[in-house]
Amino acid sequence: EIIETGWNFDNSYAGLPKIFFTTLNPTSVPSPKLVILNDKLAISLGLEIQALRRDNGVAVLAGNRIPDGALPLAQAYAGHQFGHFTMLGDGRAMLIGEQITPSGKRFDIQLKGSGPTPYSRRGDGRASLGPMLREYIISEAMDALGIATTRSLAVVTTGEAIIRETQLLGAILTRVAASHLRVGTFEYASKWGTVEDLRQLADYTLQRHFSKMDTMENPYLFLLQEVIKRQAVLIAKWQLVGFIHGVMNTDNMALSGETIDYGPCAFMDTYDPKTVFSSIDTQGRYAYGNQPHIAAWNLARFAETLVPLLHDNQNKAVELAQNAISEFPDLYKCNWLEGMRRKIGLFNQEPQDESLIENLLSMMEKHGADYTNTFRALTFDTLEDTTLFKAPEFTQWHQLWQRRLSRQQESQASYQDLMKNSNPALIPRNHRVEAALEAAVKQGDYRVMEELLDVLSNPYAHTSQQTDYATPPEPSNRPYRTFCGT
Ligand code: AMP
Ligand code: MG
Ligand code: MG
Repeated sequence: EIIETGWNFDNSYAGLPKIFFTTLNPTSVPSPKLVILNDKLAISLGLEIQALRRDNGVAVLAGNRIPDGALPLAQAYAGHQFGHFTMLGDGRAMLIGEQITPSGKRFDIQLKGSGPTPYSRRGDGRASLGPMLREYIISEAMDALGIATTRSLAVVTTGEAIIRETQLLGAILTRVAASHLRVGTFEYASKWGTVEDLRQLADYTLQRHFSKMDTMENPYLFLLQEVIKRQAVLIAKWQLVGFIHGVMNTDNMALSGETIDYGPCAFMDTYDPKTVFSSIDTQGRYAYGNQPHIAAWNLARFAETLVPLLHDNQNKAVELAQNAISEFPDLYKCNWLEGMRRKIGLFNQEPQDESLIENLLSMMEKHGADYTNTFRALTFDTLEDTTLFKAPEFTQWHQLWQRRLSRQQESQASYQDLMKNSNPALIPRNHRVEAALEAAVKQGDYRVMEELLDVLSNPYAHTSQQTDYATPPEPSNRPYRTFCGT
């Protein structure tokens, strides 16, 4: 007997032209076991936690049972990977449907690691436990930090070994997203579809994510401008918390403005714009300091796909696209500066603010200061014994900053509150994430991970419980490295 879990699917994406997807079912797995479930997210989606935890519920999260109303499909997309255009698509993921929540919102429910698809190329369509738990931890931490992101509903182990360099435990992550429409989806339409296919995709994207007015003169220009705006907001937020995505290929840029694809991402400890964690990013294309530039590059690829829709006259269309793209740097800068002002407690604007901030950052770089903890120390005025805080140039900077603060009308209490709400007490530190994964994957002990998730769920609380988790890793001569997809 099937117990109702609350799934309430619609399948609007399947209404797009057939070139955009292939319908197929996930490949069954031998013995699914739920290892983590996001209760709060489940409830907000309208799901019954108890029912989800039963075998029948877990079977859905494993791809072994297709609930009523679901229409599993793999999405087609292309993308520029490290600058090179290529055909991609869901090679190890399937959209099982769009959950309509009790409040009427629509979310893609995607199983990641659910078996091969026509887009798998040489891959096996599977995922292993460590990276799926890693995505769970970091995406949930991002959400708690107030950054738009896909979410993680659950991870199940499959009972199947997957073959990489060694044998690994197979796992499936249930990913929840505003949608999985990407820059790469438009690149795919532009390269292999007709203009009519492209138009349908654009109309669908507009309808799904942007409240377009019927009277609008040029809805496709509006689409481009809105996508640009959302990326400017998103990338500024990444920079402000020290998040390094690691693989900002165009297929990994979601049009909804959510952070997507947690492969080689990681948070920066010591402030250095050149920071790269991904083992395959040997040129530093996706380094921390390069992320805004790459976002603009990706958006230019998006703009190119829209040219046939922007104007009947191609020159005019290209001009519209270029004008829109040229706004990104300023939009980004505005968002970033606004965020940085908050991080140092500024409510209003003065022309010198940018150089005040830049000076702080360059001192942090020079003295190898921890990014998160520097702002935390400024917030609580706990300028401990670090090289940065002992430097005479910092003392000078501190005086300028104090004077700047005193020129505001707001009280010390209110700018401290502003700083508390803008500077997280913690980020998912790499060594903490690794420790949680090690306990889970090697010992089957999920307590370390659960405790980590618990502290990360409230990063602006500034509690004493968090202090332990705020400590940067011991200095090491072996840099932290991340890997794309295992
Ligand atoms: P990513 O670097 O995560 O954006 O993935 C790039 C592409 O590789 C996407 O099309 C994925 O679906 C595909 N892919 C990654 N891992 C696998 C796998 N194990 N089997 C099949 N396709 C995969
Ligand atoms: Mg991807
Ligand atoms: Mg990936």
